[in-house]
Amino acid sequence: MAFRTCAILSVGDEVVAGRIIDTNAPWLASVLHSHGVKCTGMASVSDDPQAIEQAMRQWISRVDVLITTGGLGPTDDDRTRVALCAVSGDDIERDEAAVQSLQTRLKRSRVPVGEHQLRQADRPVSMRSVPNDNGTAPGITGLIDGTAVWVLPGPPDELRPMVESHLMPAMQRNAQGPVPHEDIVAFGLAESAAAQIMGEHLLLHASIAGSIRVSMGLLHMRLEHPDETRLELEANRIRDELGPLALPKGTTTPADAVSQCARARGFTLATAESCTGGGIGAALTHRPGASDIFAGGVVAYANMTKVDVLGVPKALLEPNSPGAVSAEVAAAMAIGARRVVQADAAVSVTGIAGPDGGTTEKPVGTVWIGTVVGNDVRTRQLRLPGRRERVREWTVHAALQSLRWHVEGIDATMHWDVPTETVGDAS
Ligand code: ATP
Repeated sequence: MAFRTCAILSVGDEVVAGRIIDTNAPWLASVLHSHGVKCTGMASVSDDPQAIEQAMRQWISRVDVLITTGGLGPTDDDRTRVALCAVSGDDIERDEAAVQSLQTRLKRSRVPVGEHQLRQADRPVSMRSVPNDNGTAPGITGLIDGTAVWVLPGPPDELRPMVESHLMPAMQRNAQGPVPHEDIVAFGLAESAAAQIMGEHLLLHASIAGSIRVSMGLLHMRLEHPDETRLELEANRIRDELGPLALPKGTTTPADAVSQCARARGFTLATAESCTGGGIGAALTHRPGASDIFAGGVVAYANMTKVDVLGVPKALLEPNSPGAVSAEVAAAMAIGARRVVQADAAVSVTGIAGPDGGTTEKPVGTVWIGTVVGNDVRTRQLRLPGRRERVREWTVHAALQSLRWHVEGIDATMHWDVPTETVGDAS
């Protein structure tokens, strides 16, 4: 029998009260999804055995695989085992191997072995015990009315190794396997705009499943279809439409994308950061081995550092001059960073991350980005909405994306609402 659908039931008073954030269910859903088993429902239920029993029965009648987590321990409020025994309708037996391993573990921790502890080894006769190497409560698995039921403990550090060692191999044997997919990551457009582009393409190909997730301003689009040729064709069409806003295939952040592009050209990069306080450098060094492309950077938060270290002309920062948040200063910072660090290309940012410091002319969220490649300098203004953290995160991505465009010679002016301006020459 091929497993196609699953449901996940999270058990615990604390889960339903919101005192524990249920991280087990989303993790399990993605594990099962990667084996081609679609999660059609997630539910949380209190420690009440009747409620657990009822929820189990409901899901067993609807899905191929039911996984429960939590409520398996030795205490009186751990009732999942009791509910499972009622649902299976089987006699209960004490699993000998589970008793042995419980005794060994409890002896090692000098915990007395009482009936409370031993009943964790109880299971319906027709089901089998799933060893737990990181806790006392073993899991239980078996078929009930044709549905593969997995009853597993709640603590993630117990659950995850059990899933990896026991549940995943079972899915590999019985599920159809991963559904081929193509991922497209984009930055610089709204989720609704991305959804529209994807929707228009997928309307023509109703059998291709598409989804979008947003994380830190990055749009992750996923297309799924068994026919890999069709999938790739459609993903490439969407990439073409997104133009420079799509990251190169296989990269997941603007930092990865610019690193890959610099590496391919043998370029070294430098940074000059004000409002991001080192975030661009951190993003570039997130992955090991960045020293071949990232030469270094200057965090020039104070105006004097911009002048003294980066050589920004003092006159630009005086009253009635362009000021620290301006195209001129962004350009001078980028040129200065490239000179100080002796790199092939540089990026700078200067902006007002908030919550204070905004004016009518330059509200919070105003950011200037400067890039320099060879003797060519580009600057670009962003007006970012949102709070300080969001402004800073977006600035990091936008700066790295601008740098990649510049290094690759891409003119992305058409793709942003605010034009890119060339303000001068770095020679
Ligand atoms: P134990 O043997 O530790 O009692 P158990 O299977 O009975 O294991 P619970 O008592 O339900 O599990 O939960 C124990 C702990 O596991 C919780 O305090 C919580 O930290 C974590 N946990 C339980 N359920 C979840 C969940 N759905 N998501 C994330 N963590 C969870």
